[in-house]
Amino acid sequence: MMSSSQAAPRRHTRQREAIVRVIQASRGPLAVNDILERAQREHDGLGIATVYRTLKLLLEDGTVRQVILPSGETRYEMSGLGHHHHFQCRRCGEVVDLDVCPVAVLTGTTLAGGYTVEGHELTLYGVCPSCQE
Ligand SMILES: [Zn+2]
Ligand SMILES: [Zn+2]
Repeated sequence: MMSSSQAAPRRHTRQREAIVRVIQASRGPLAVNDILERAQREHDGLGIATVYRTLKLLLEDGTVRQVILPSGETRYEMSGLGHHHHFQCRRCGEVVDLDVCPVAVLTGTTLAGGYTVEGHELTLYGVCPSCQE
């Protein structure tokens, strides 16, 4: 018979893997509730506290990163996706990754007055195809 001290870490590993799979499979950064809802399709008993605890660990070990949207909402995506931006639908709230960078000012550029650019953040918003129908 399996002892509970062995079973618990294995359950945690499976929950962690399910949460990572959900974030990897998404077309854009996910809110905690999106992650919970999708991960519950694999793990019925998964609770919001487990999602929060797992996200904290995944942030600490650098597997995922936080995305703060202009609305102040926090979402999560995989680290190491490279430079990219997001589009948020103003009707349904869906956020998707974009593969274009519309910013013409390059990192390292010195602006008038001596301000050196080290990076940028930008979120585009509008209406997604489903909401346009
Ligand atoms: Zn939409
Ligand atoms: Zn950019």
